[in-house]
Amino acid sequence: MRVGFLGLGNMGAPIAHNLLTADHELIVWNRSPEKAEPLRAAGAEVATVPAEAAAADVVVTMLADDAAVSAVLDGPEGLLAGGRVGIHVSMSTISVALAERLTRRHAERGESYVGAPVFGRPDAAAAGALAVLCAGPEEALATCAPLFEAIGRRTFPLGGNPADANLIKLCGNFMIMATIETLAEAMTLAEQGGVERATLLEVLTGTLFDAPVYRGYGDILVNDRFRPAGFAAPLGLKDLRLVAEAAEAHRTPLPLIGLLHDHLLSAIAIDGEDVDWSALAKSVRRAAGR
Ligand code: NAP
Repeated sequence: MRVGFLGLGNMGAPIAHNLLTADHELIVWNRSPEKAEPLRAAGAEVATVPAEAAAADVVVTMLADDAAVSAVLDGPEGLLAGGRVGIHVSMSTISVALAERLTRRHAERGESYVGAPVFGRPDAAAAGALAVLCAGPEEALATCAPLFEAIGRRTFPLGGNPADANLIKLCGNFMIMATIETLAEAMTLAEQGGVERATLLEVLTGTLFDAPVYRGYGDILVNDRFRPAGFAAPLGLKDLRLVAEAAEAHRTPLPLIGLLHDHLLSAIAIDGEDVDWSALAKSVRRAAGR
């Protein structure tokens, strides 16, 4: 399949590499052009503007946030100026509201729009082990199935409404952040009492908390692996905002959001913009004087 791929950051680059490895023909673009060079070397064509990717059978966007997606779609050199887009697959974690607007815009243009946010960090992307949550027109989902198989270990088809996939993704990220918070609180308590973080984690993941999210983030917290960021803290802050927007729209109080927001914001303020979102654990530790 001929695939346009826009956005070659921590997630986009390994996903695009896996599509190439699976013998898809790729035309890639990134705002900072140097990030496209490894893909050029691996056999991809490099577009100079997003519009050049419109002619592909499927165009994937994997961009930071709502503003980035709008910047890449609109304007004289944007994807939508390049002519009819067959299928737009949006993998970025974007707002439910933008997903709804994109669904309408593409439908008005006679195009298909698929929401396909993913679970998994850059290491999972590199290993082709993402979980792909996809929703959109049935025929478009069927066309994209081989692409999702090439990049993920499991695809979850979630029906015809793309925004549903985004809402599920945001619920998941909210729960990951709440998990990091509780892990950090428990580890801080254990350490204050003289028990090592690693010992606590070994017992918890070997008994009641044997889940990937506890093992993965537990390991990061035990070893203080907050740099380089697999998922940068400012993007985590963006996701908390998107969760809060969706919660307000659906009249659902989520009291933990304020706590998580302040701990993450404090970590960014004190530790820097380049830390992983799991560095919110440092805010928890500091509150106990550690
Ligand atoms: P990243 O490394 O920061 O990459 C962001 C990408 O967006 C880069 O290609 C960047 O271009 C581009 N971009 C940002 N602003 C732009 C603008 N105004 N115009 C055009 N391009 C713009 O982020 P990432 O970790 O790959 O995340 C990408 C998306 O996946 C986000 O929505 C994130 O929430 C989601 N996600 C991330 C993870 C993770 O663990 N990292 C996991 C699941 C989902 P430049 O290279 O020029 O900056």
